[in-house]
Order: sequence, then C-alpha cells, then structure tokens
Amino acid sequence: MTSSNDCHFCKIVNNYRPSQIIYESAELIAFPSFDPIRESHTLIVTKEHFDYFDDLPKSISHNIIDLGQKIAKAQKMLYPVERVGFLYTGGDIAHVHAHIVPLFEKTDITSLQYIKDGNVEFKGPKEITPVVMENFDSVTKQLKSALEQI
Ligand SMILES: [Zn+2]
Repeated sequence: MTSSNDCHFCKIVNNYRPSQIIYESAELIAFPSFDPIRESHTLIVTKEHFDYFDDLPKSISHNIIDLGQKIAKAQKMLYPVERVGFLYTGGDIAHVHAHIVPLFEKTDITSLQYIKDGNVEFKGPKEITPVVMENFDSVTKQLKSALEQI
C-alpha cells in the first residue's frame, strides 16, 4: 500500500489503537474526529494513501459510501437527528477522508456563500486534552455498539 511519512492520516492508519477504531476493513478505517463539528462526527479514511476522492478506485469509493450509510444509521440511533451530512472536502489534509456528521443545525455544514451577514471567523484545531480523549473513547464505544446493530 502507498503511504507517506509526512501524511497525518497515514500516521494514524499505521499507529492507531484498536480501541479508537469504530470500524476496520482491509481498505478502510473509521474513527471519531478529534475536533468534531458534532459529537460522533466520524471520519472514514482509506488505509492506502490517495490524495483526493476523485483519485479513488470505484470499488473503494463504493465501500466508503456503504460504510457512510451504516454510520449515518448508527448516528440516527444515538441522536435525535433527521439528517446526516456526508462530505469530502480535501481542504485540510490531502489524504482521502469522508466526514459523517449528524446535522443538528442547518449551519453544521455550510458555506460562507450561504451565511447572510458573513461575519464568520475560524478558530484553530481543538487541543487534545484528557477530557477530549475521554469523550473520544466514549463516542467510539457508543458508535461501535450502534454499528454492530445495523
Ligand atoms: Zn496519507
């Protein structure tokens, strides 16, 4: 498999702890985001390094969608949401990863183009503290359990 020593997600793929993984197959892993938009915001990451989603072989692309649908159903079991967002952005790390986000508010996933008065300011990534890790472990357990029921 292709990987890169400088790539954040290749490092995670090669060094993860099984307890942090919601799902794993030969080609994919899924785990909660450390900096979630909403609790249980999950990332599906390819084990092999591909820069962008349009680089993916069709079979892997299909398996990401399939897993995304299952994670969305698990999130709907855990939270009172009607919709779950699925998106590739490619704007931060150039290693294919799909975001699966339970949508509590219309603004959970949006664009500045859709913000009326535009006054949006981004903050940096969340610091990984013991509280963040505790929540991460708890969400991983809940999602893993819900996924097993689907
Ligand atoms: Zn990578």
